[in-house]
Amino acid sequence: MPMYEYRCTACNHEFELRQKFSDPPAKECPKCAGAVEKLISSASFALKGGGWYDQGYSGPGKEKAPSCPATGGGGCAGCPSAA
Ligand SMILES: [Zn+2]
Repeated sequence: MPMYEYRCTACNHEFELRQKFSDPPAKECPKCAGAVEKLISSASFALKGGGWYDQGYSGPGKEKAPSCPATGGGGCAGCPSAA
């Protein structure tokens, strides 16, 4: 589920919400019920590159065999060149 960041335009309170794509965006500040604006955060919404997102998501990098942490190359059960 993607994480969205919002900031209240009244009290500047910043908060994050995990929402489905189908959920309507937040409109009210949970603190003061003021109007909020959505922030674009590259940190919590990293679609490419490293980070936790790669753990459970099939991305372009998943096609390649991961380098084995034990041998630095191949050799573990997950490596195609395991000997
Ligand atoms: Zn507020």
